[in-house]
Amino acid sequence: MDLSGKIALVTGGSRGIGRAVCLKLAALGAKVAVNYVSRPDAADDTVATIKEAGGDAFTIQFDIGDATQVQDAFKKLLADCGRIDILVNNAGITRDGLLLKMKEEAWDQVMDTNLKGAFNSIKAAYRPMMKQRGGRIINITSVVGFSGNAGQANYSAAKAGLMGLTKSAARELATRGVTVNAVAPGYIVTDMTSELSEDVKNKVLSEIPMGLLGEPEDIASAVAYLASDEARYVTGQVIHVNGGMFMG
Ligand code: NDP
Repeated sequence: MDLSGKIALVTGGSRGIGRAVCLKLAALGAKVAVNYVSRPDAADDTVATIKEAGGDAFTIQFDIGDATQVQDAFKKLLADCGRIDILVNNAGITRDGLLLKMKEEAWDQVMDTNLKGAFNSIKAAYRPMMKQRGGRIINITSVVGFSGNAGQANYSAAKAGLMGLTKSAARELATRGVTVNAVAPGYIVTDMTSELSEDVKNKVLSEIPMGLLGEPEDIASAVAYLASDEARYVTGQVIHVNGGMFMG
């Protein structure tokens, strides 16, 4: 797989899965815009790691849930780089709780970042990719968007919604050479999952046929495939990367 000359933007590229995606795309030759919202130190570290390995990257700060910030950031990106070839909608948050106790704020925050965030950036990439007659959009959903999860109604709903967005955008952009796909991780070791108790982790582990937790690099490999020419004829699909935890 060769991504030389491609411009990629990864939302939430500062940490976890997004960081691994940035490293992978850069290793394959893409110039990577590493987005973050609140941790410039982490984003700088991702860029430094890419540069040390001989790749090309820069940071770009914006809140994915804020349409104005997203539009402004894309304007700047397009002015600086001239195009956008690969968009990875990875930024995401959790605000877990049982429905009975879930506050409206927790619902809204998760929807704004995980679902509206992807809508904001797809909208900003739509015209440039259409004009280029080519592009790759990859949305990071989740196993729980398919299976549901007690305590994650907001997050599961946002991730399931992301699949509807993926398929609709794929249909709209198909004749323009733009593919839109999703990757659904199972349980991946990152800051997001480090918050969970040992009991919860052990329960999850017991539900994974391979008996292993996933690493961010497992997701990055699937994203790289979808971003590459190898996936030319794949659109509106989801790749489950979960050790067999859910078989779609
Ligand atoms: P982390 O919590 O490790 O990292 C989250 C990233 O998202 C950070 O880079 C953070 O930036 C960024 N971010 C958060 N809010 C915003 C925002 N409003 N605007 C821009 N960037 C933002 O998460 P993971 O790496 O674990 O998860 C990445 C994606 O994968 C998410 O969409 C998550 O839902 C999904 N996923 C993760 C799974 C897992 O097991 N870890 C399983 C299934 C799906 P900053 O550093 O500035 O805070």
